[in-house]
Amino acid sequence: MKTKEIIARARELVEPFRVADGDRFRLKDVDPGDTLDLGSEDKPRAKEALALGIGALAELQDMLYAQDRWAVLLIFQAMDAAGKDGTIKNVMSGVNPQGCQVYSFKSPSDEDLDHDFLWRCAKVLPERGRIGIFNRSYYEETLVVRVHPEFLAKQKVPLELVTKNIWDERHKDIRSFERYLSRNGIVVRKFFLHVSKGEQKKRFLARLEKPEKNWKFSANDIKEREFWNEYQDAYEDAIRNTATKDAPWYVVPADNKWFTRVVVAAAIVETLASLDLHYPKVEGEKMRDLERARQMLLGASKE
Ligand code: ATP
Ligand code: MG
Repeated sequence: MKTKEIIARARELVEPFRVADGDRFRLKDVDPGDTLDLGSEDKPRAKEALALGIGALAELQDMLYAQDRWAVLLIFQAMDAAGKDGTIKNVMSGVNPQGCQVYSFKSPSDEDLDHDFLWRCAKVLPERGRIGIFNRSYYEETLVVRVHPEFLAKQKVPLELVTKNIWDERHKDIRSFERYLSRNGIVVRKFFLHVSKGEQKKRFLARLEKPEKNWKFSANDIKEREFWNEYQDAYEDAIRNTATKDAPWYVVPADNKWFTRVVVAAAIVETLASLDLHYPKVEGEKMRDLERARQMLLGASKE
C-alpha cells in the first residue's frame, strides 16, 4: 500500500477519537471497549494495518529529522494498566531511536517541588527534528494532584494563591503553554488511553498471577483504584478545558490493546503527515560540492 493511502486511512480511523474542541466532550460518550466495526476476527488485519502504520511513521520521522524544523511532543496519560508502556513500545518500534526522546514522569523530586509545575517538563521538551514522548506529564498536576490534595500541599505554592480556582487556572496555563509551543513549531498531541474499571481489574489480576508480570504490580495501584470516579472526573475536566485545534486530545478506547495501538499509530501518522515534511533540497554551491566530492572519489584511485 502506498504511503499516501496509508495516511488517508489513518485520518479516517482516528477521526472519531480526536477531540479538538472540549466544550461538548463527555467521557461517558466514549466506550473503552469500542473497536468501531472491527471484531476480534479482524485482529490480524488490524495488526497488518499497524505494521503499515509503523512503516509510514518511520518514513515520515526520517524526514522530520532531516528537515530539522518541527518537533513533535506526544503526551500519554491513562489510569494504571491502560497500556501506556506497551503502546509506546509497540507504536514507536520502527522509529530511529536517535530521533526519539522518551521521558517518564513519576512523583516529583524535592528539586522539582522547588519550581513551578511546568518546570520539569519544560526542561526536556523535544529538540527540533525529534519526537518527544511524555509518559505522564504536567497533566498529572490536575489529575493525581487534584485527587490527592496532600500533593498540592507539598508544592510550596504561597497559600494566598491556592484558591478554589486553582484547577481552572492550571488548565488555562497549560493551554497557554501548549499554544506557545505550537507557535514555536513544537506540535503537541495528547493521548488518553481510556480503559474500563473491569478491564483494569483483569490486568491487575494478570500481574499478580503471571510471574513475568509480577514486577509491574504495585500495591499502590490498588489504592488508586478506589479513587476511580474522582480520576474520571478530573480527566474529563482536563480534556474539556485543554482540547484545542492546535493541541487536540485523542481519547482512545483501551480495553483491546490491538485496537488502541492501531489508533495511536494512525494518530501519529496523521500528525506527521499534516506537516508537509520533505528532505532539505540540495542546490547551488552545495550541489557543486557534492559533484566535486563524487569526482574526487571516482578519480582519486582505483582502491
Ligand atoms: P506503570 O504503568 O508501569 O505503573 P506508571 O506511569 O504508573 O507506570 P509508576 O512509577 O507506577 O509509573 O507511577 C508514577 C506515579 O507518579 C503515578 O502514580 C503518578 O500519578 C505519580 N505522579 C506523576 N506526576 C506526579 C505529580 N506531579 N505529583 C504527584 N504524583 C505524580
Ligand atoms: Mg503505575
